[in-house]
Formats: sequence, C-alpha cells, structure tokens
Amino acid sequence: MPGGRGIGSGGRGLGSIGGGRGRNKGGGFGAGGFCVCAHCGKKIPHERGVKCTNLRCPDCNRPMIREELLASKKTKGDSE
Ligand SMILES: [Zn+2]
Repeated sequence: MPGGRGIGSGGRGLGSIGGGRGRNKGGGFGAGGFCVCAHCGKKIPHERGVKCTNLRCPDCNRPMIREELLASKKTKGDSE
C-alpha cells in the first residue's frame, strides 16, 4: 500500500463533547438559583432540597417555577 493515508489516523475524536456535568446529586439544577413566579415575576431564592414547584408565590399564591426552566420555556415556546 503505497501512499499510506490510512483512514482513522486523524485523531480528532468526538470523545469529550457534552460531558462533564456530573456534579448534581439528583437535584434538577443543583443548588442555588431562584424560583420565579410565572404569573407576576416574583423572584425568591431557591432553597436546597425544596422544589420550586412546591413553593407558592407570596404575592399571588401561585406555584413557583425554576428560573432556568422559565427562561427555557420562554425561548422555546415562542410559537405557542
Ligand atoms: Zn406571583
């Protein structure tokens, strides 16, 4: 085999794309962050171990939602 440009000698593996998010211990988004009321926009600090959806907005008494979740909903659900 003259020339010798073997397939597979490129060495640019896709190995580590998308990896390295393993610090959470089962929590959705990890500690910290905020819970937001989708209704009035009220923001309260998220407590560890307490789901935002278990909290109620102190102003309008509606279920809170995780800030990240609300943000992704807004951008994704644009066409709805
Ligand atoms: Zn509210």
